[in-house]
Amino acid sequence: VKHSSKKRWCKKYVRATFPKRDKYAHKGSNGRGLVIGGQLTMPGAIVLAARAALRSGAGLITVATVKENIPIVSSSCIEATYHLLPNLTNRLTDRDLEAFEKIDAIAVGMGIGREDSQLLSDLIEKLDKPLLIDADGLYHAKPLLEPLLQHKAPVVITPHYGEMAMLTDKTVPEVKRSPFSISRQFAEKHQLYVVLKGKYTVITAPDGEQIVSDQGNAGLAKGGTGDVLSGILLTMVMQHKELLSALANGCYLHGKSADYLVEEDHTERDLLATDVIEGLSQVFRTLS
Ligand code: AMP
Ligand code: MG
Repeated sequence: VKHSSKKRWCKKYVRATFPKRDKYAHKGSNGRGLVIGGQLTMPGAIVLAARAALRSGAGLITVATVKENIPIVSSSCIEATYHLLPNLTNRLTDRDLEAFEKIDAIAVGMGIGREDSQLLSDLIEKLDKPLLIDADGLYHAKPLLEPLLQHKAPVVITPHYGEMAMLTDKTVPEVKRSPFSISRQFAEKHQLYVVLKGKYTVITAPDGEQIVSDQGNAGLAKGGTGDVLSGILLTMVMQHKELLSALANGCYLHGKSADYLVEEDHTERDLLATDVIEGLSQVFRTLS
């Protein structure tokens, strides 16, 4: 699919670009994803991301988080495997890097906190894997835009308006006024993919090409829904050849799940991030 500028991503495009599930697939061929984050005070963020990645069809998901979080996180996501980190601030050890060698893509930042950390700079420098950076990971990314430019695999950032304002040294009203041009400038300058999240989500490729996703509703304006999107996008990145479509399809799945849920079992008021994960199967059904 060739994208014209600012294409509104609808079902027609999703169907045309969505990867077929291989009959002879095995778990390794469906993508091995790594989710890194989850401070002691925010274990939910990685549960949501990991579960969303698995529900989106990833073959294997490993969660790397602090040891104390493993009991709670693993009991909420028993299908994942776990990699213990003593903390989320130290450099990665050779043992960590060896364990991450087989990974196809990494999502980092959900619930990671803003404490000074070497983790992201190690991920950039020492692993040539597609890297999706969200939430507090974006605070760590801001001083690392130079090294990110050297990263040998694609980089995706998924800021909401506040995080985009932080990254670009602008105010939130400024980002709201010009989401397209601000995203495009940033994506081109730093050669990365930008998913600027809001009521309308603007997705921009490093070459400046843009897509708008207008699925979803105000039921998503609640903690945890961004973490769910990161998990979905991680799987989409592993399973698509073309990254802009991968991101657009991920945003479609996320928003459409919320839309179906609000039409039927839930309302915008009571919808939770976990519901959005459970709603994915209904969206997948409409695509096959
Ligand atoms: P975050 O701000 O990181 O928690 O992410 C929130 C997610 O919910 C993003 O995917 C937003 O696009 C989506 N979202 C939040 N508020 C709305 C809204 N009013 N309408 C549609 N989507 C929304
Ligand atoms: Mg968020």
